[in-house]
Amino acid sequence: MASKHRILITGAASGIGLALTQHFAAAGHRVVACDLQQAALDSLQKDLPSVRTLAFDLSDAGQIEAAFSSLRDDAPDVLINNAGLQHVSPLEEFPPEKWQLLIAVMLTGTALLTRVALPSMRRNNFGRIVNIGSIHGLVASPFKSAYVAAKHGLVGFSKTVALETSDADITINTVCPGYVKTPLVDAQIASLARTHHMTEQEVVEEIMLKPMPKRQFITTDELIGTVEFLLSPAARNITGQCLVLDGGWTAQ
Ligand code: NAD
Repeated sequence: MASKHRILITGAASGIGLALTQHFAAAGHRVVACDLQQAALDSLQKDLPSVRTLAFDLSDAGQIEAAFSSLRDDAPDVLINNAGLQHVSPLEEFPPEKWQLLIAVMLTGTALLTRVALPSMRRNNFGRIVNIGSIHGLVASPFKSAYVAAKHGLVGFSKTVALETSDADITINTVCPGYVKTPLVDAQIASLARTHHMTEQEVVEEIMLKPMPKRQFITTDELIGTVEFLLSPAARNITGQCLVLDGGWTAQ
């Protein structure tokens, strides 16, 4: 990846987004780290002074537009739509506000942010949009209806935008990992252990890694390498695709 980019990353305060932010800032790119959590962004900024931070709520259309327009001439040529959250519950017990929030953040928020990021990409005839989707964009698991719906929606959204931007040097793709050990998954491990009366180790072995024939978590380094590939010249004709890192989950 020779050239330096202006990279906007959502969900940058934790997990995968934080790892991407640290990597791309260290590699000399100009990174705008976005998240809901102001305090976490402040400490990120202390550690990485070159990173610009922007706190806004992706479930709020007004905040997305205001935050993006505050960038003025610093609009990104690379957008990494990464922010996400999980809620695990049978549909009948799923709190409706939670269901709407998951869709609002991971699907509608992604669409609205991409919508405001596209005009400058078009002006410069260059843009790379990478969504951090999930294996749950391709297959379902019980009790994750909102998450699975949002991630499946993201794949369809991406394909549509790929067609709409095919006249420019803009690509949009979705990276679909199986389980990655981040705070989002740590919370699920703890909650599944309580619900199923299992140890956390049993949850990892018997629930999480079971559908992944390679039986290991995907690492943030693998995701960094995949995103780097999507930003490289070799990937300029890859658009509307899912890049699946699932240890063989969907090969079965
Ligand atoms: P994480 O919980 O560590 O980080 C998610 C970040 O998103 C947090 O910093 C959070 O503050 C931010 N966020 C949540 N709601 C927001 C909102 N309304 N507005 C702005 N920011 C908000 O999770 P992670 O595991 O790093 O997940 C990152 C992405 O990767 C998510 O889209 C997730 O679905 C996807 N993913 C994760 C895994 C995994 O196993 N960890 C697997 C597949 C896909």
